Amino acid sequence: MSNQFGPDYVRAIAPYQGGKPIAEVAREFGLDEAKIVKLASNENPLGMPASAREAMLAALADTARYPDSNGFELKQAIKAKYGVPQDWITLGNGSNDILELAAHALVQPGQAVVYAQYSFAVYPLATQAVGGRAIVVPAVEFGHDLDAMAAAITADTRLVFIANPNNPTGTFIPAEKIAAFLARVPRNVVVVLDEAYNEYLSPDRQYDSIAWVREYPNLLVSRTLSKAYGLAGLRVGFGIAQPGLTDLLNRIRQPFNVNSLAQAAAVAALGDTAFLARSARLNADGYQQLTAAFDALGLQYVPSCGNFVLVKVGEDEGAGARVNLALLKQGIIVRPVGNYGLPQWLRISIGLPEENAAFIAALKNVLA
Ligand code: PMP
Repeated sequence: MSNQFGPDYVRAIAPYQGGKPIAEVAREFGLDEAKIVKLASNENPLGMPASAREAMLAALADTARYPDSNGFELKQAIKAKYGVPQDWITLGNGSNDILELAAHALVQPGQAVVYAQYSFAVYPLATQAVGGRAIVVPAVEFGHDLDAMAAAITADTRLVFIANPNNPTGTFIPAEKIAAFLARVPRNVVVVLDEAYNEYLSPDRQYDSIAWVREYPNLLVSRTLSKAYGLAGLRVGFGIAQPGLTDLLNRIRQPFNVNSLAQAAAVAALGDTAFLARSARLNADGYQQLTAAFDALGLQYVPSCGNFVLVKVGEDEGAGARVNLALLKQGIIVRPVGNYGLPQWLRISIGLPEENAAFIAALKNVLA
């Protein structure tokens, strides 16, 4: 399709490919929606917390009014949890919004953005949308090479994206490596530390990124309620940074970017530590279940610290697409990652035990 509108760099964008919706797969393959298992979008298989559902229903009565543009209650909840003042917080329509706000606020056409090979697909999208020049640093063992990323920063670099854990590979960067990286980055370059999967980290891997935010005015930590908090459909995320950077992001933020139902649900979810613990436990068990099956099948996978696992399903370039299609026909939706340059691999989100089992059974069929 030729299009004469807009700048070249916008026309060159390949739109984000999300996980296939259940209803779409049901229509395409003539399947019963109720029998379809979706392990494609790193969603919380427990659904939303009951506490959040109640809060959302209570907020329904007021939806003829605009939401609180400043999200006072939600920022109070974030403040209580992370110990940062309100003017250190930017609310986002998902953390995706925070990533894009950073690119829009900081990068002019032609300026550089550094990110790693095999890191989150929105980094190239956000970079391209503002006409930024991507510096993609080769991955090491599917993860970030922070030394190489620091070395790749040019005089015109304005932004660095780091995902920890990373999607789609699940790789983790230990705290001391991030600390050393932050100390090396020039102060006029903003680092976005994207911690969408932070809540799944085991206690021995947890670290205090907010302490780094206090130390570095050029650090923006982004978090989401889409994963461990179970609110992906409501679209809530937030950024934490010192007031200078936060002020900049809030200047270009849509005034009502987090709707009132989402704000109410997010306040409840942030306080629901029992749900969070249940999510993390289910995920750890599901990780064992999936990786034990991969081991039994002799399939290579990347050890993951997220709520998903990247697994190699064949040696040829068509393997991922082929196995994906065969799984879809059996009503199992997973995520092909050919668009990440990983055509032999599939990303499997960790589901309920029975969902994982259904996927494993289907995978065995397909590979047999
Ligand atoms: N960062 C990473 C690394 C992700 O994997 C995702 C979700 N796929 C996001 C950010 C964005 O999620 P959301 O907009 O739902 O917060």
